[in-house]
Amino acid sequence: RYMGPTAEEIVRKRKEFLSPSMFYLYKKPLNIVHGKMQYLFDENGRRYLDGFGGIATVSCGHGHPDVVQAIVNQTNNIQHSTILYLNHAIADFAEALASKMPGDLKVVFFTNSGTEANELAMMIARLYTGCQDVISLRNAYHGNAAGTMGATAMCNWKFNVVQSGVHHTQNPDPYRGAFGSDGEKYAKDVEDLIRFGTSGHVAGFIFEAIQGVGGIVELAPNYLTSVYSTIKKAGGLVIADEVVTTRLFELWICNCTRCVLMRHIVIVPIYQVQCGVARTGSNFWGFQNHGIVPDIVTMAKGIGNGIPLGAVVTTPEIATVLTRRNYFNTFGGNPVSTAAGHAVLKVIEKEKLQENAHVVGSYLKERLCSLKDKHEIIGDVRGRGLLLGVELVTDRKSKTPASAEVLEVMDNMKDLGVLIGKGGFYGNVFRVTPPLCFNKQDADFLVDVMDYSMSKL
Ligand code: PMP
Repeated sequence: RYMGPTAEEIVRKRKEFLSPSMFYLYKKPLNIVHGKMQYLFDENGRRYLDGFGGIATVSCGHGHPDVVQAIVNQTNNIQHSTILYLNHAIADFAEALASKMPGDLKVVFFTNSGTEANELAMMIARLYTGCQDVISLRNAYHGNAAGTMGATAMCNWKFNVVQSGVHHTQNPDPYRGAFGSDGEKYAKDVEDLIRFGTSGHVAGFIFEAIQGVGGIVELAPNYLTSVYSTIKKAGGLVIADEVVTTRLFELWICNCTRCVLMRHIVIVPIYQVQCGVARTGSNFWGFQNHGIVPDIVTMAKGIGNGIPLGAVVTTPEIATVLTRRNYFNTFGGNPVSTAAGHAVLKVIEKEKLQENAHVVGSYLKERLCSLKDKHEIIGDVRGRGLLLGVELVTDRKSKTPASAEVLEVMDNMKDLGVLIGKGGFYGNVFRVTPPLCFNKQDADFLVDVMDYSMSKL
């Protein structure tokens, strides 16, 4: 039984002692005191189904015993020492992570967050190419430090940042973008940017395989292949920001003949899920068209199951640029975080969370899609695996964002025991990103509760 401070007491302390910019998801903020797998518990012992997974950071489930044990064991052994001494945890996890990567992507730099990982990736690209210009997508979120805030392209996440050397290209958003699902047309904008906004040479192109903060936006088909060759022609590196999607990264690992042949296709979760799909014999993602391997992959969030852990993976050749000076990160790759990361990898494999994300995710998406027939307010349902978005609009034709309704439905769902997130530039997209241990009954409960809450609007 929870005996700690009440929600009201915590709110009072937050108001007095914490950042005034912090906001709550619900009108009456939740005081979460315990988590177990896909469930969260509040101060009164009330159980909630977690459909948001700590914004996609909890991959295996809250308090997964194997991950907790790995953290406890490592903490008891040695919690931290300078990385200038040897410790096996970082080396073992780097090896395990590299073994999941395609091509020559096998050198790992550890960081503490997604922001740090992207800052490092952009710096590496700039050093390697000798260029400053980086291209990112409008509606992207890449972090909140100087460089990554520059690469982020939504004004609601930006302060007075100096936009040095960052250009934002058209977002290949099939639902709201100017060219619908025509990836080639969006890709042309990257060509134009390079031609008219740079010296003709760039450091790189950074993108999210599925935009998370931006509202679970998948990139239009054929876009990446086209952009890849444009960036290569301009001498740049392609950086896949998988921070929000890494919770699914195990889905890369598919050894069926078809997927082995497609190995060069990377860029994470989308293709990971696609691999899962290909294995079942379906072929509805059309991934054959995206024959690219990024030069750098960044990840965070889900790889630590809640422990601060980020990583940048690149090729040995590109990695050598960091030998020109000293590169150092005090906590990046510390034994406890890397032991946790390694345990997460093992759990995903042991519990077949890859298949689960595919099976339950497809089922959940199907059920969410069927809600669209019932509720006019649903403009779009999208995403892959257990990374799904439901966009609400007051009018399907004009696509006017139904932001207030999103908040109302979320609040109602919370009262009925289901937590989901929101995102998108207008805050009108439900983000459904549960822990990967989510099952079909959970999916049914979530959809039924969403259905009921929408009918109460
Ligand atoms: N990249 C993406 C795609 C993200 O979603 C986020 C966090 N929302 C980040 C980078 C930044 O990660 P962090 O908050 O760990 O710095």
